[in-house]
Amino acid sequence: MGLIPENVIDEIRESIPIDQVIGEYVSLKKAGTNFKGLCPFHEEKTPSFSVTPNKGIFKCFGCGEGGNVFTFLMKHENLSFVESVQFLARRQGIDISGYLDKKNNENIVKARDRIIETNKLALKYFQEVLKHEIGSKARDYLVHRSITKETKDFFQIGYAPDKWDSLLKALGKRGISQEELEKAGLVSKRDGEKGFYDRFRNRIIFPIFDNANNPIAFGGRLLPGSESKTEGAKYLNSPETIVFKKSLTMYGLNFARQKMRSKKKVIIVEGYFDVITLFQNGFDYAVATLGTAFTQDHLRILRSQVEEFIFVFDPDEAGQAATEKAGMIVGNSMNLSFVPKGLLSNQILGEDFIDNKDAGTLDIQVVALPDKLDVDELLKTKGKAEFEKLLSSTEGLLERTVRMTLDDVHISSSQSKKMDAIDKIIPLLAASHRSVREQFFLLLEVRLGIPYPTLSSMLSRRLEKRKVPSERDNSIDLVDVKKKLPKIEADFLELLLHKPEFVDLNTIDISFFSDSTVITILTELLDASEKGIKMDAASLLDHLDDEVARSLVIELSSSQLDDEINNEEALDCLSRLKNIKLRREQEKFNKEIYNVSREKGDNSEVLWSLLEQKNKLLKKKQKDIST
Ligand SMILES: [Zn+2]
Repeated sequence: MGLIPENVIDEIRESIPIDQVIGEYVSLKKAGTNFKGLCPFHEEKTPSFSVTPNKGIFKCFGCGEGGNVFTFLMKHENLSFVESVQFLARRQGIDISGYLDKKNNENIVKARDRIIETNKLALKYFQEVLKHEIGSKARDYLVHRSITKETKDFFQIGYAPDKWDSLLKALGKRGISQEELEKAGLVSKRDGEKGFYDRFRNRIIFPIFDNANNPIAFGGRLLPGSESKTEGAKYLNSPETIVFKKSLTMYGLNFARQKMRSKKKVIIVEGYFDVITLFQNGFDYAVATLGTAFTQDHLRILRSQVEEFIFVFDPDEAGQAATEKAGMIVGNSMNLSFVPKGLLSNQILGEDFIDNKDAGTLDIQVVALPDKLDVDELLKTKGKAEFEKLLSSTEGLLERTVRMTLDDVHISSSQSKKMDAIDKIIPLLAASHRSVREQFFLLLEVRLGIPYPTLSSMLSRRLEKRKVPSERDNSIDLVDVKKKLPKIEADFLELLLHKPEFVDLNTIDISFFSDSTVITILTELLDASEKGIKMDAASLLDHLDDEVARSLVIELSSSQLDDEINNEEALDCLSRLKNIKLRREQEKFNKEIYNVSREKGDNSEVLWSLLEQKNKLLKKKQKDIST
């Protein structure tokens, strides 16, 4: 484990209940002493992801993923072990820098910290500049965009002046080298020359934060109407760095998360100003992708927290294409719920239609913006009430896709045009409930003249494709490890993990056990106990490298062991194990005695010695039973 002392690691792990940390990523519901939620590591309909706070562990009974809080952070934030310890320490305000400065494997942690420190200084600088005289045009522009002072402060908006080296100089004075600024993506190397120049010039700056509210990157909007020759795209983001991955980040997520989760829905928009104006108007559960299309990762990040996505994309062609693409992504991996509103509701579905809003399904709505206005302009010109109205008259993604597709194609269109249309609709139908599919097949049959069986077989092919083999298929099966063990050994270990106070570790003889995984785990516990350390499930996980052993610990300790279980049972378990061991030995003797007597006759010395040993064994067994 290296340089951070174990007691410090324990302290960090125990400084916060695991459900609180995981609860920031996954919406958890209480179930007995555990919490349940949708697994963030695989796609699923019903929650099989379980968090056990009093054991400090989580476990997914669907895909087998599990571990303690560090394991969770490693997987979810894509960190190494040391980084995950550092991540939680920082969040909890525990200073471990003293342990980290010494060795090279902490270089990444240091580099990460350094970038964030650099970004923090840059953020402060950009904010200062906006207040300064040099920022007056930027301030005017924000006024023109109707951004209030409160909003400006809340989002920590800043301004990068129209100069090639102002940030370079300002942060240079604070001891940040040019190379460090480059690593943070704040400056670029001059072409063919020595030296660097500021990446963001004459731009309104929107800092982008991670879940812990650290600035990990910046977005810059070119200030319009300036006389300067500053060129470039209207919007410019930081390049990807070791702390910033575009596809894993959404603008506004750190601000929106709480509300998003209590409302169980999220508004997804395209730009910084959209998010900001929505917040300013009280729609504080909006996020934006960072100049990229909506990806599978975005879906994964959001879906474990909400039940409804509301896409608000610009009404232009690009916005339409973006909506369509997002639909494909969702359709390929999610189960949609369908709330009939327009197209089918009355004519075909009838009143007995049941909405399939099961757990794990996602309701996807699309807001149609009128008059070629984007969200920001709409709120500015038509006000909050108008947007409210739009939110209450959204259209389901499936219905919308079908409606818009059928606008373009009809029964006398060419076959290839019809097939193109079907291709757009099929992925969403594949993600929908069977009863919904059937109704849409009927509709398509009537409108396009494509027979129902043809549609149905196209869909079956699509569904086959969706069954992508899971990543785990080639690795060891880590689900239900317990089932493969001798039951008594599994029972004992389970008891030991749940009620360590019932078992005196000194009375455990490793030779009672036969399963190598159980032996690995017990050895770890016994070794620690010899050193006077008491280990619980969560700390045990920091010590076990064997994946099967880890899975077993997680599985056994996340079970709901009966509270009425008592000391007697633990003792009983142990004595049964002992008996089993003696029986094993006895059987071994019997076999040997049989072999020897067959080979060497009934009077050999070897035989007598074996019989004597067996006698001793029997006496020992007798004694054990009587005490
Ligand atoms: Zn899972």
